[in-house]
Amino acid sequence: MLGAGTLALVPTMGALHEGHRSLIRLAREHADHVAVSIFVNPLQFGPNEDFSRYPRTFDVDLEVCAKEGAGVVFAPSAEEMYLPDRQVGVFAGGMGTIVEGAFRPGHFDGVLTVVLKLLNLVQPDVAVFGQKDAQQLAMIRRMVADLDVPVAIVGAPTVREPDGLALSSRNRYLSVRERATALSLSQALAAGAAETTPVRVLAAAKAVLEGATRLDPPLLLDYVELVDPMTFRPVDDDHQGEALLVVAAKVGTTRLIDNTPILPK
Ligand code: AMP
Repeated sequence: MLGAGTLALVPTMGALHEGHRSLIRLAREHADHVAVSIFVNPLQFGPNEDFSRYPRTFDVDLEVCAKEGAGVVFAPSAEEMYLPDRQVGVFAGGMGTIVEGAFRPGHFDGVLTVVLKLLNLVQPDVAVFGQKDAQQLAMIRRMVADLDVPVAIVGAPTVREPDGLALSSRNRYLSVRERATALSLSQALAAGAAETTPVRVLAAAKAVLEGATRLDPPLLLDYVELVDPMTFRPVDDDHQGEALLVVAAKVGTTRLIDNTPILPK
């Protein structure tokens, strides 16, 4: 049993890596106890996505949680989470259909539905999410505001490999050559972040990504956009405030996303 005190929840899909560990450590700074949920949520995968081959490393995940001081691991089955005659879910609204949502129809409805269920089941004071999935984090903040969900949302910075590749459970799918191509995502973000105006930021990022489409294996770009961090609408050319440079691409059969804040200079 957990004693008295505050509780933080770190929702994950398992296959835990250093990014997840950093979330657990941040959660410990925000609450007396930490719960980690491990659930590969079928609702947020499209019919042609990687639900069935998503990595599952439950025993190692339990060790990671114990080592990082998470007192509770909540790992329900799909049957425990969803009634067979389930009807009602969360609607992500227009923001769920743009940028990442345009490439993954229904994805954010599935994410918000499972996050709300996890919050209702675990009833944490705080929930921690990574900036790596920036639109997901923005949508969760939107849901908590729009639906008056009684939880504090904490965003955590993206953890990267020394060469810049953002950690992801899906990185383990990458061959050595695919990984080299995948590096162009973070390189494009760095090139963009070194620029000053929105037009130049996007042009610099696109130049790197276009180069990567000629690598072997090639980068297959889904999108690169400069957006408002709260609404995910594209910013105007004369935008002055903070923006978010977001990118998604496939390398081989692995789909990767990344982003970086663009601060006013
Ligand atoms: P996932 O298991 O991929 O659903 O991710 C669970 C949580 O970990 C989400 O809040 C992600 O944004 C976060 N996360 C994933 N990768 C990273 C990373 N490289 N750095 C920080 N947080 C991450």
